[in-house]
Amino acid sequence: MNISVIGTGYVGLVSGVCYSELGNNVSCVDKDPFKIEILRNGRVPIYEPGLQPLLNSNAAQGRLKFTIDTVEAVAEADLIIIAVGTPPLPNGEADMQYIEAAAKEIAQAMNGYKVVCVKSTVPVGTNERVRAIIATHYSGQFDVASLPEFLREGTAVKDTLHPDRIVIGAESERAAQLLKELHIPFTNEIVVTDIRSAEMIKYASNAFLATKISFINEIANICEKVGADVIEVAKGMGLDRRIGASFLRAGIGYGGSCFPKDTKALIQIAGNVEYDFKLLKAVVEVNRHQRFGVLDKLFQALDNVYGKTIGIWGLSFKPETDDVREAPALEIIDRLIELGAKVKVYDPKGMESFRRMYDHPSITWCEAAMDVAQGSEALCLLTEWSEFVTADLAQVEAALARPVLIDGRNVFSLDQIRNTGLAYYPVGRPVFH
Ligand code: NAD
Repeated sequence: MNISVIGTGYVGLVSGVCYSELGNNVSCVDKDPFKIEILRNGRVPIYEPGLQPLLNSNAAQGRLKFTIDTVEAVAEADLIIIAVGTPPLPNGEADMQYIEAAAKEIAQAMNGYKVVCVKSTVPVGTNERVRAIIATHYSGQFDVASLPEFLREGTAVKDTLHPDRIVIGAESERAAQLLKELHIPFTNEIVVTDIRSAEMIKYASNAFLATKISFINEIANICEKVGADVIEVAKGMGLDRRIGASFLRAGIGYGGSCFPKDTKALIQIAGNVEYDFKLLKAVVEVNRHQRFGVLDKLFQALDNVYGKTIGIWGLSFKPETDDVREAPALEIIDRLIELGAKVKVYDPKGMESFRRMYDHPSITWCEAAMDVAQGSEALCLLTEWSEFVTADLAQVEAALARPVLIDGRNVFSLDQIRNTGLAYYPVGRPVFH
């Protein structure tokens, strides 16, 4: 199949590379010439495990190319996949300007029957809008289809090659058939439905996962007050197959480019049809507060943070990615600086992207995890990168000016802490002095 993917970000690039891995000819288009130049030179502009070798081998076999020329890429393709960003507007709604611009560019390049599908996360009705935009410029036959994406950054290649399911929203048998053919090598679990339901499946899935996270975080907050241990509670709950163990890890809340934006967008989508999505509003509210638990624990341990040096382990919103969009670290560090603290930070992959988004003279950018601990009056683990999880706690204790460890992701066991002189503040578990 000849495929053109419009938008070469986390989703478009991984999808494009994985479709080429199946033997398809793929053109990845991006309007950012700098990104395309990096890709043409055989380098991956983001950090995503496993992507680099797949990109290089498929490019070498001539199945994968990168271009800024939408017209040429679309003209050559049977299938066009829109994977541009849908960032949040100030009111929480998804910004449709990139989708609409991409649809217009595609329309101008149409030269025969093609299927145009939207992989970006978009409000219900967007595919119809895409169809209308293309139809104003092109009078020939074409189909639109919804193809929501469920990959997770950090495991995006594995998630794409081995998805739990593929959802196809199509209103023509021809489009559904083409998309089924493309995805059957990945999985047999293919849900074919109408376009509006497919668009909704994506938001409903993310909203449900976000709800699970905020739910366990609320339980954790109660555990702290009643002296229970949320890890034990989650284990006991998760063994019930109706509940399931995943997404029951208490911590400092979700971040990233999807959950925060998609939950707010769904609240807006509901609001636009006069439905007050009370449950999801509470999920968002709980998540916003959860990150500040780190500050409460710092006050508990140090009384105040003014003039003190606080170490931060982890900037990215989760491990194995350099993505810092909506990472809890952004607000935590901002608040610490506002309160007069000095901050030392380190992240294995997210330093550059964080610094582009947030910089301040009170931040010291360290080159290694132990440099952060050195001389800090407390150490806060915000992202569970394996190099933090496996750190030598005796060394950490020796490096710190005061032996205070705030574990925002509950990665250490009490047995590990017991062997040290660290004052340990996890989430939803007893504090250990
Ligand atoms: P991204 O910001 O990393 O990438 C978007 C890319 O599109 C950018 O490189 C941008 O330059 C390019 N672009 C914008 N307009 C263009 C145009 N007209 N022509 C060509 N290129 C254009 O975004 P992302 O994280 O890949 O997300 C894309 C979509 O997928 C979003 O709707 C997101 O919600 C959804 N999604 C993301 C993830 C994730 O984990 N990142 C997972 C599932 C779904």
